[in-house]
Parts: sequence; structure tokens; C-alpha cells
Amino acid sequence: MSTPALKIYNTLTRKKEDFRPIDPANVRMYVCGPTVYDYAHIGNARPLIVFDVLFRLLRHLYGPEHVIYVRNITDVDDKINARAFERGISIRELTEETNKVFQADVCALGCLEPTVQPRATEHIAQMIAIIERLIASGHAYAADGHVLFDVPSMPSYGRLSRRSLDEMLAGARVDVAPYKRGDMDFVLWKPSKENEPGWDSPWGRGRPGWHIECSAMSWAHLGETFDIHGGGIDLVFPHHENEIAQSCCAFGRELMANYWMHNGFLQVEGEKMSKSLGNFVTIHELLHTEKFGGRSWSGEVLRLAMLRTHYRQPIDWTVKALEEAETKLTYWMTVMDFSVAPLGSDGRIADQLLRSDEVPSTYMDALSDDLNTPLAMQILDRAFSEPRTDRVLSIMLGLSGIDLNAFRASRHARDQAFFEKHGDIVDRLISARNAARASKNWAESDRIRDELAAMGIALKDKKDGATSREVKR
Ligand code: AMP
Ligand code: ZN
Repeated sequence: MSTPALKIYNTLTRKKEDFRPIDPANVRMYVCGPTVYDYAHIGNARPLIVFDVLFRLLRHLYGPEHVIYVRNITDVDDKINARAFERGISIRELTEETNKVFQADVCALGCLEPTVQPRATEHIAQMIAIIERLIASGHAYAADGHVLFDVPSMPSYGRLSRRSLDEMLAGARVDVAPYKRGDMDFVLWKPSKENEPGWDSPWGRGRPGWHIECSAMSWAHLGETFDIHGGGIDLVFPHHENEIAQSCCAFGRELMANYWMHNGFLQVEGEKMSKSLGNFVTIHELLHTEKFGGRSWSGEVLRLAMLRTHYRQPIDWTVKALEEAETKLTYWMTVMDFSVAPLGSDGRIADQLLRSDEVPSTYMDALSDDLNTPLAMQILDRAFSEPRTDRVLSIMLGLSGIDLNAFRASRHARDQAFFEKHGDIVDRLISARNAARASKNWAESDRIRDELAAMGIALKDKKDGATSREVKR
């Protein structure tokens, strides 16, 4: 079976293009990761899931050992300083705690671990090296302990976001600072007060600006120019524009990455997610609390709900969509024969299976067409209702990172937790109903059945007179 060409929509050219890696034996992708000052919200989950699907697809096409996926951890940022101060804990404590929850969240969402997860604080030397190059080549200047990127020194600035300098100036809320030569110039390095984290540098003790972090980490792990750079659509300007300016000017390259990919935004029940609207929800809350729709959700449900919309479209995150995703997974789980080894969430078993040629071409075509996951999910859905082998289904599920075993385990854990909490009362109601049935009091028997149904318990009367119970929520 021939492998379809992977097509990617490139924000840089605003076109869908054939993907041609610089070196097929070393395919390189960078995705901007979290700033670890607070738990990641469900909007942040979108790039995590989308680029995980791409990572799996690239591993399938080029071989797992030929793909490097770098997703950074921003652990130096003013938001981190402020939050640590507010909570009265050290910066280290805050970033460690937040990162731990982040790692657990992405694991629950079925994402493979990236090849490297570099931390900004471990790449200060590379940041300083890039800034020194920029100063030496006339693209940056030091003033008052700050170093700024000189935007007008780069004629192609604005290429990714397609804005001219004049338009940017007209539209932007620029903070005018006395040490800036031009209004659009942005900070590469800034001085730190004694109580702020800081590193020694040629410009005094200070800390990096946000954009330089990604230029340094992508350079350290992927080189001067690499294949794919990803993130949410909000990062196009200024973050990615500035990353490009820094890296291209420091290394004298025309391109930082050949393909720029951006996921669309997520809103909640038709509204922009925000703390003030009260619809802000974290991945952690969806997984472990009853904040959204009055109940918790498994990571597999969240993942499927995310993949049923194309990554470039806006997505509306609703309770209804999660319920639909769960119904679908429950059906798949019921028909899937688990005698076939399930796909491990670490991707190892998946990779082994993926080397085979069994994946249906329609499925590959859909994923290869700029990650058309909604179409891929429809094909998968159809495959579950057609004659097929479980092995093929396993492979298709694996490519999308959907682990039905994990889903089954989470359902089981949820049911157990429910019965631990409410088991006594459920058993008492079942006994009372059995007594009502024995005395042919059908009205009372039905009433109790309804009461249990309202609690989310479905009863099944068996031929031998026993009654089984099942959590239906
Ligand atoms: P941040 O921590 O805000 O830098 O965001 C981390 C990643 O999540 C970036 O790739 C953002 O573009 C992405 N992101 C943030 N909010 C949303 C949202 N509501 N919908 C989709 N992606 C988002
Ligand atoms: Zn970045």
C-alpha cells in the first residue's frame, strides 16, 4: 500500500502544501509548551492533542526513531513570579507543582511524551548566545540593562502574520519605554531586581523575555532551521513573529521553520472562556471534579471530543459534545474484542503495529490531508460497524491516540468509586424493590426503579430472579 503524501496547511504561505522534511531520517517539530504558573485549561489541551496526532502520524510515516518532537516548559516568566509571591511559595515549588499536574494531565489525554521537554531555565546560556549574535549583527541593542530587538532592522518582519510595520503600530498597544528606539522593538533581556530570578549576563543580572526562550530551545534541540513549528493561533503575533525575527537574524537564515501550523481557538458553550464569565475550566477539573456538566470525564472522552472538529476550525466545548463522545467510545468499547493486545499509551506497542501496512488507505488519506481528524473519526466509526479485524481497528485507534483500554479502566474506576460512596443505599433500594416484586406491588417496584435511574443506576432483571446494577451516568 503506498503512503499518501502528507499535506500541511502552512500559515507562512496560507496554503496547503506537501510536507517535505529537510531530512527524512530526522524530522523535527517544535511546539510552544505551557508557562507553568497555573493548571492548564481545556483550550491549552487543544494544541497538546492536535500535535500529538501529528507526532504519531510522522512516526508512522518516517519511523518512530526518525522524528524529534520538542515541547518546551516555560519556567521563567513574570506571571510565575507574581503567582509564587501571591501564594507565598518559592518559584521552584510553584513550577514543580504545576509541571507535575501538567504532565499528569497530558498523560490522561493520551498524549505520547515528546522526545524532549526542555526547560527555559536550563537554556539561559543559549539565550545569551543568541542575543550576543543579534547585537553583533546590528539587530539588537542594549539600553538601561535591557536588550531590545530592533524591529526595523529586519525588512521581512511581519511575514508570518502578514502585517506591515505601519499596520502593527496602528493596531498595537505598545508600551512606550524610554530605553526603546522604536515602538515595536521587543525585549530580549531585562534587568532583575534582587527578589526576582536572575542570571549574570554581559548586560548585568537579568532574565530573558518570553520570545527568546523558544528561539534558544528550538536551536539547542533542533538546529537553526527545522521542519514544523506549532502552537495556537493566538501565538502567530507577536510570539511566533518574534521567534522568527530572533532566529533568522541570529543565524542568517531565511526561515526558522519551513511549516508553521496553528490550531484554532476553543470556546465554551458558545462563549469565550474567561474567569470572569465563570466558564473557565482546567483539564484537571474536567478529569477529576464535577465542575463541567456536574460530573467528571475520562481523558479519552476529552480527546475524542477534541478530534471531532478539524484543528484549524474554532471548537465549541459543550457538555453535549462530551456526552456524544462518551456514547461513541462506550459503543466502540463494547464491540471491540480485547483479545488483541491493546495499544500502550507510551506508543511502543502502537509503533510496532504501525509499521505494518494494514491501516486502511481512506483513514491514512484523511489524517494525511492536513490532519482531517473529523473525517478519520467517521471512517473509524464506520469500521466499527463493518466486518473488520480488531487488529486493524487497534492500528486506527493507535494512530489517533485513542486507548479503549484506558477508557474501560477509567469507567471501571468511576463505577467503583460510585458504589463505594452509594453502594449501601443502592443495595437497600434493590432489596426493597425485590420485596415489592415478590408481593406483586408493581407500582412500588417501578417507583424504586425510577429512583435508581435518577441516581444513574440501571437495573437488569435476570432470568434467575437476580438483579444486576450498572452505572449509567
Ligand atoms: P499559553 O499558556 O496561553 O501560552 O497557551 C499555551 C498553548 O495553548 C498555546 O499554544 C496557545 O495558543 C494555546 N491556547 C491558549 N488558549 C487557547 C484556546 N482557548 N483555544 C485553543 N488554544 C489555546
Ligand atoms: Zn514559543
